[in-house]
Amino acid sequence: MKYYSIAIDGPSSSGKSTAAKLIAKELGYTYIDTGAMYRAITLKALNLKIEDLADEKNYSFIPETKLEFHDNKMFMDGVDVSKEIREQDVVKNVSLVSSLRYVREELVALQRKFAEVTNVCMDGRDIGTNVLKNATLKIFLIADVNVRAQRRYLEQKEKGSTMTLEEVLKDLERRDYYDSHRELNPLRKAEDAIEIDNSSMTIEEVKNKIITLFKEFKHE
Ligand code: C5P
Repeated sequence: MKYYSIAIDGPSSSGKSTAAKLIAKELGYTYIDTGAMYRAITLKALNLKIEDLADEKNYSFIPETKLEFHDNKMFMDGVDVSKEIREQDVVKNVSLVSSLRYVREELVALQRKFAEVTNVCMDGRDIGTNVLKNATLKIFLIADVNVRAQRRYLEQKEKGSTMTLEEVLKDLERRDYYDSHRELNPLRKAEDAIEIDNSSMTIEEVKNKIITLFKEFKHE
């Protein structure tokens, strides 16, 4: 049986996950947050007190780590880690961890497995270019960096973060640079992806636009 897939890539805080969640809900598809998977592995490496995070030999724990999504929450080894994976320590190290070949190979294989058994809406950095090269629809979602920083700042503030707007902006710029300059599967628009700049769009408009495109691509 053939399953449908929507791939949404773009830089940090471009609104990918908010859009992907709403789209998955409306279509009854499974939302796969691949960033959360890289974050969870980073969290586990930190919890295991791995000293050299840059050495891929230290990640042999991945095959025995259980990563699952339930109600859009990230579970690792049966525990809901959705909150912990957003904390500063994880944010600081996730780009390094996700640049390692072994880590990517393991997580990409798992992401493909999810898409083999159900209809998915998957967001990340390399979904259209690597993970789901044959996705039904590929979207590259962008927004002005200042708009992204402002959105992330308000979101973090609401959660009790004390980071200033300036710090949030610096962190976004650093991660975008790292993610788009790494050797393996860098952040890039797939040739057949449709770019949407949502700097001045509401989330509802983004969702509707992607769903309309998807119906066209599905030949409905
Ligand atoms: O999307 P999110 O900001 O949660 O992703 C966290 C980090 O995980 C990104 O900054 C990037 O380094 C990494 N990532 C990746 N490939 C993906 C998704 C996320 O390398 N498909």
